[in-house]
Amino acid sequence: MCARPEEELIGEIDHIDFVVVRLPFLHPFSISAATWTCKEALLLRLEAGGIVAWGECVADPDPYYAYETVSTASHIIKDFLLPLIEPGMGLGELLARFRHVRGHGMAKATVENALLDLIAKRKGIPLHELLGFPRRPIMSGVSIGLQDSADILVGKAGAAIDKGYHRIKMKVKQGKDYEYARAVREAFPKLALMVDANGDYSLDDAEGLARLDELGLTMIEQPLSYSDIYQHSKLQRRLKTAICLDESILSLDDAVAAVELGACRVINIKQGRVGGLLESLKIARYAASKGIPVWSGGMDETGIGRAVNIHLQTDPAFSVPGDTAETASYFDLDLVEPPVTLGPGGYIEVPEGPGIGVEVQADRLDRLTIGRQRLK
Ligand code: MG
Repeated sequence: MCARPEEELIGEIDHIDFVVVRLPFLHPFSISAATWTCKEALLLRLEAGGIVAWGECVADPDPYYAYETVSTASHIIKDFLLPLIEPGMGLGELLARFRHVRGHGMAKATVENALLDLIAKRKGIPLHELLGFPRRPIMSGVSIGLQDSADILVGKAGAAIDKGYHRIKMKVKQGKDYEYARAVREAFPKLALMVDANGDYSLDDAEGLARLDELGLTMIEQPLSYSDIYQHSKLQRRLKTAICLDESILSLDDAVAAVELGACRVINIKQGRVGGLLESLKIARYAASKGIPVWSGGMDETGIGRAVNIHLQTDPAFSVPGDTAETASYFDLDLVEPPVTLGPGGYIEVPEGPGIGVEVQADRLDRLTIGRQRLK
């Protein structure tokens, strides 16, 4: 096992392309802040010595989940991150230079993901092996968006349970929270159930949120503002249910602050949000040292980003089910083969083969591309 990917050389890159794709969702996906009907994603394509590598940016076209967008990420990658690459440079050296660019973790993760895919493919090893972990089946979890009624939500939860998902997350917002969660809990008393508010509440809502304690949820994700850690520490003291932070954690430093303040008892690591896989592994190490479980969140990625999240979860620190669901829950047509499917017991197999282990299908890429630019 190679466990020092930052020591790997980047090497010569022949071509660098931006590809923007748009994949229609089978069903609109709603959170407290927005509804999306399709996945629009920026892809970074690297070509080197006949090898093609990919990095998917998790930013949306809009700033409703995070401040980064497809447009800001394109700008930061093209004008600030890629120009930092020099011949003969190691990956760790490049990532150290990225620190001078403040924020923009989604843009940084896109470049890092593509380079790790390239390095792994050049070595002929799967991404998880480059990261230092053996294959293991990954736990599955599905995130159900806001629904028009509690009955519809219960129906969707039942269908997910029948498929074998290990845990179900339901989105909540003010007015669609306790009653909806109670309906699911009453229908499925033993279900590993959690809620995600995407920051829809304030500390003034603490009493209402405390009602959720009676429902035996595994956690409440990001109840307060995307930019807050301190108020979460006050809220956590008033709740029995564990708070999980998502949007608030943009780096290892944020994770340390959150854990030391007692702002959460669980962390959702979205590798695309925190600046990439190597920062994710640092957060996972730190969390493990503090007894804080972590899991891998999703951004409704195409098969490229979904594969990256699966490889990350070979790290045993990812001890609870994340947001990794089967491709067929989101898209009629994805970019890659093979799709993510649930195997026996609801587990997901890590793609085999070098790098991310999934193959971008040229005909589908052409069909789903809405913009393309050759940078080098
Ligand atoms: Mg979330």
